[in-house]
Amino acid sequence: MSLPFRIGTVGSPISTPKKPGGSVGAIQQIHALGLDALELGWVQSVRVTEETCAAIKREAEIQGVMISVHAPYFINLNANEEEWPKSRKRLMDAAHYGYLAGATDIVFHPGSYFDKSADEVLAIAIPRLLDCVNELRSSGNPVTLRPETMGKSAMLGTLEDTLKMSQSIENVLPCVDFAHLHARAAGGNNSREEWMKQIDTISNMLGSEALQKMHIHLSGIEYSSKGEKNHLPLKESDFNLVDLIDVLIKRKCSGRIMCESPIMEEDALYIKETIEKA
Ligand SMILES: [Zn+2]
Repeated sequence: MSLPFRIGTVGSPISTPKKPGGSVGAIQQIHALGLDALELGWVQSVRVTEETCAAIKREAEIQGVMISVHAPYFINLNANEEEWPKSRKRLMDAAHYGYLAGATDIVFHPGSYFDKSADEVLAIAIPRLLDCVNELRSSGNPVTLRPETMGKSAMLGTLEDTLKMSQSIENVLPCVDFAHLHARAAGGNNSREEWMKQIDTISNMLGSEALQKMHIHLSGIEYSSKGEKNHLPLKESDFNLVDLIDVLIKRKCSGRIMCESPIMEEDALYIKETIEKA
């Protein structure tokens, strides 16, 4: 029976053997573990050759592993005029080399509010993102850009923020990090009712088709009143995984679930097992 979700890790599995290592080795290990998706963790910078990208793409096709990219952390759609070109280049490099590596989706952290209101920031962020998407289209790059829901209240990236960006621009869809949304709500967003409401919001704002191409980040998480502190193994956290999976399946959601727990593949396999039982 095929599962409604492809499942994998953000970054190489911890158990990836030293040889051949790298992303090619990570793809082989994902397959060996019984997983079928990998998010390349290009989180510090995009430093990869076209040749390496071609090798990643080839291996992913052989192993049947879907590829996405986590773009560098240092991207801010609300950067000042001087900083924005550097942010933009990081996002565009992730999209360019990601596409060469066979990635279909590019996840990025959308930025900071810098004490402005969400609407003021979105008025800056959306045209900038549209300009990026237009350049990708004109160069024949079909990747989906995915602003991620963020775990801290000072960060651009409530579910609504990411949905407004997605609503305004074709080929932009959210990366829904349910752990971040839970931490951002200082322990809320951890029940069936709340998740049902979030799924309704996604469906109302983007159409029900968006539920069939979800890209989800999951992990356990530690938080304070200001939100995210650090990621935790799922079983060491208060995250209600079983109910979330049940809601996703009842609402006929599908797509990819990428695990960001410190024990990566162990929790990715736990997520897979939870889906199989649901
Ligand atoms: Zn992230």
